[in-house]
Amino acid sequence: MIKVIRIEENIFEENERIATEVRKILKEKNILSFNIMGSPGSGKTEFIEKTLSLLNNEIRFGIVEGDIEGKIDAERIEKYNVPIIQINTGGSCHLDANMLKRAILNLPLDEIDIIFVENVGNLVCPAEFEIGTEKNIIIYSITEGDDKVIKYPLIFRVSQICILNKIDLLQYVEFNMEKFENNLKNISPSTFLIKLSAKSGENFQIWIDYLKKLKREKN
Ligand code: MG
Ligand code: ZN
Repeated sequence: MIKVIRIEENIFEENERIATEVRKILKEKNILSFNIMGSPGSGKTEFIEKTLSLLNNEIRFGIVEGDIEGKIDAERIEKYNVPIIQINTGGSCHLDANMLKRAILNLPLDEIDIIFVENVGNLVCPAEFEIGTEKNIIIYSITEGDDKVIKYPLIFRVSQICILNKIDLLQYVEFNMEKFENNLKNISPSTFLIKLSAKSGENFQIWIDYLKKLKREKN
C-alpha cells in the first residue's frame, strides 16, 4: 500500500488561503497594493525609486523588498523616507503569501495608501504564487529581447500591467516592438502596456497618471 501525497497542491492551497487573508487585511486598510515582478536587472527598483521621487509628497507609500539575500535594493529606497520591510527568502526564488503577510504586519498600515512589493528577480515562479496584492505588474526591459512573452507566458498572463522599460535604449538593441506587442496581445489581451524609461523619464508620466487614477478609483 503506497500513499501518495500531492505536496505541490497542498502548497498552492495553503498559499491561496494566506493570500486571501492578506487581501482582507489590505482591503480593510483601504491600501492599493502592487506585486512588482520581473527579471533581475529589468529595472524594478529603479521604477519604484522614480515613482517615489515623483509622488512621495502626495501619496503615502510602503515598500516591501523581496530578495534571496541582502538589502541592497532597500538601501537604495531608504533615502525616500518611506517605511520599508526587507524580506530575505533564504534561497527561495519567489515570495509567497505568508512572507508578505509577515512583512505587512510590520508596516504602519494606517499611514499607508499604496504598497509596492518588489518580488525576487525571476520570470518563472513569482507568477505561480499569488501573494495577496491587488495588482500584478511585470517590469520587462527591451534588453531582454522581444521573444520572452512566448517563452514565459504565465507571468504576462497574471499581470494586469506590463511596464516595458528602458525604451531609451531602443536604437541600440535589437528589439522588434511590433512583434512584442502582438505577442503580448495574443497571450494576454487584457494586460495594459506602458512603454517607458525609468532612467530617462520618457513616458513615465503615463504611469504616474495611471497610478493616480487607480488611487482615485480606490477612494
Ligand atoms: Mg531590484
Ligand atoms: Zn521560486
